[in-house]
Amino acid sequence: MNNPLDSSIQFLPGIGPTRAALIDRELGLKTFGDLIGFYPFRYIDRSGITSISSITSSEAAVQIMARIVRVRLYGVGSNIIYDRVPDGTVPQGGGQAVKFNLVKRMSVIVQDASGEMELVWFKGVKYMFPKMATGGTYVFFGKPSVYGQRFNMVHPEVDVPPSGPGTMGVGTLTGVYTSTEKLKNSGVTGKVMNRMMASALDQCLQYVPESLPDYILNAKGLVPKRFALRNIHFPKSQNDLSKAVRRLKFEELFLLQLALLKQKYVRSRSAVGIPMPKVGEAFNACYNALPFDLTGAQKRVIKEIRSDMMSGHQMNRLLQGDVGSGKTMVAVLSALIAVGNGCQACIMAPTEVLAQQHFANVQKYLAPTGVKAALLTGSTSAKDRRILHEGLENGSIGIIIGTHALIEDNVTFHRLGLAIIDEQHRFGVEQRAKLWTKGNSGVAPHILVMTATPIPRTLAMTLYGDLDVSVIDELPPGRKPIQTLQIAEGKRPELYRFMKSQIAKGRQVFIVYPLIFENEKLDYKALEEGYEDIVEHFPLPDYKVAIVHGQQTNEVKQFNMDAFSSGRANILVSTTVIEVGVDVPNASVMVIENVERFGLSQLHQLRGRVGRGAAASFCILVKGQKISRESQKRIDLMCATENGFELAEEDMKLRGPGDMEGTQQSGLPVSLGIASLAKDGMLLQEAREYAESILKDDPELTDTKNAPLVQELKRGKYKVAKNFSQIS
Ligand code: ADP
Ligand code: MG
Repeated sequence: MNNPLDSSIQFLPGIGPTRAALIDRELGLKTFGDLIGFYPFRYIDRSGITSISSITSSEAAVQIMARIVRVRLYGVGSNIIYDRVPDGTVPQGGGQAVKFNLVKRMSVIVQDASGEMELVWFKGVKYMFPKMATGGTYVFFGKPSVYGQRFNMVHPEVDVPPSGPGTMGVGTLTGVYTSTEKLKNSGVTGKVMNRMMASALDQCLQYVPESLPDYILNAKGLVPKRFALRNIHFPKSQNDLSKAVRRLKFEELFLLQLALLKQKYVRSRSAVGIPMPKVGEAFNACYNALPFDLTGAQKRVIKEIRSDMMSGHQMNRLLQGDVGSGKTMVAVLSALIAVGNGCQACIMAPTEVLAQQHFANVQKYLAPTGVKAALLTGSTSAKDRRILHEGLENGSIGIIIGTHALIEDNVTFHRLGLAIIDEQHRFGVEQRAKLWTKGNSGVAPHILVMTATPIPRTLAMTLYGDLDVSVIDELPPGRKPIQTLQIAEGKRPELYRFMKSQIAKGRQVFIVYPLIFENEKLDYKALEEGYEDIVEHFPLPDYKVAIVHGQQTNEVKQFNMDAFSSGRANILVSTTVIEVGVDVPNASVMVIENVERFGLSQLHQLRGRVGRGAAASFCILVKGQKISRESQKRIDLMCATENGFELAEEDMKLRGPGDMEGTQQSGLPVSLGIASLAKDGMLLQEAREYAESILKDDPELTDTKNAPLVQELKRGKYKVAKNFSQIS
């Protein structure tokens, strides 16, 4: 027999094949099962309608139900372009077609029994205007703001009022579903959605299986699945809705963590690693010669890495640490453990510049050890390459540093024991997988992935739920805080004066321009113009300006970079190519142009380029002309904190985890339906701990009481992409 959950939504009353196809295209819903898994994002609470006169603060969003009494469109200088009042008053502007490109603002006056209020739209007027018929009554939902002496509401959400109480035989809360313009235009309104849901639930709820075993429902105090589904769509009360939400969120987070952890356990039992029982002489020689003490965090992380490498299982560890927290040091010491156990290590960097810099640093640390290191990049000559290949094959090279040339070349190692990948998000999954084949005699090397893009804990738990995570949460002592300031474009003369005063003190300045792929041409133009402007204001012979961008050849790029790193150039104008890793301790000023176009974590990376030397450092954010509220928030945050993890948490709240930088390429393993990684951190933690405790008792989930869980994991939604986090 067919499962009713799999029936097509076209069989719902009033839908049919055409609407069904549209709903599929717009919302991706095909079956009854899909439909009832599509939850409201908000509820209209009929008991929660506020009367206009009782709005007393702009603290919280309110919902009013009111009639439209006047609609006005304003152009520049509050010139009235269109005026619509009830009962056929002739509109100013004479009823001609409205030229929406001239409209700056739409003002809608609404009225309920208690009073009047103004609603304002600055955007989307073309779309909203035709819907705002005078005389119509709607529910408006939004945050009041104080304007003059009164409250108004900017860009409220607009809904058709729920029709008479008890439409669905339920309480006062009506679900509001995500919709699109196309759906609304073809009559799939909120009301139609509610009707579809009611009918689908009536027909198929009884076939929905309970996905969590009873013992879990009891232990966690969760309501049954069917109750949750009924009440997420048609809550009988606020209390029942809360129970439904908690149940569904917990289920989602719990199953996700269960899938990730199970994979991790399977791996850690089966992945044989090269045992490295000692730290070795090279490690000690390097350690004892260090000119500074390791920070507590560095020591802790090295201990974690050491115990992994000793264990006989393969290490798969993610090392997170803010820019400048000393990850390179940790990488070198880890590599030396491998060398001390008769193996080789490789360090892969995402760019040539960075590989070279790593190489220079590593050489410094290796001096007292006698271990030989080498550099292999795209521009290594064929002759040098042959020598390198030989050294790697016979084992005389202990540590190799390079770009992806390392894996693309047909390099053979004598005995590769540890692969360190820096700035992991720039490596594709396939590239990482190639490393496996570089291990020898079938034993994969230990893997250490390092990233300076701080990932919030909740996201890390999900993205890397199957990796062990170490965090360096402490900067080496003596770092001077970086002063971050924001300025408007108009303040450029003052900025230039400030730059000159810093250069007079012998410091160097970075100026970074955004480069967004879709806008490449325009962006290069802005960069060129910016460069011209700088050269004009900072003329030779007093000043020397270098420019670096992605369209230059490697030689030109290198030449300009060298000019800056060696101190010959005072100013480096560039695109974000300098984002990763460039180390010029004498550079104390970072100027970021069109700051609103950068994401928070990218800004944070850029800022990390200064503050490396002894001088007081500055990061100056230059704002373009039009700044959205969200951009302004980001800029304020940058000025408020230097803590990368704090910024990452906030970034995630502002933009949602799907958009987080550094995660696009790896991608979230699953898309969450109801839970939010940004907002449900506590519940995620609880779900993870509970999943851990279940796997501790029943690692293979073979106990019959856990059969429903196995069933859920099999259904695929929670299957984590294979080799997702470098595990395959
Ligand atoms: P990351 O790779 O995390 O950005 P680095 O390893 O490049 O950071 O370290 C930044 C700077 O701090 C380097 O110049 C390094 O020599 C120095 N450094 C690293 N660890 C310490 C420490 N424990 N004490 C003092 N300086 C340190
Ligand atoms: Mg680094």
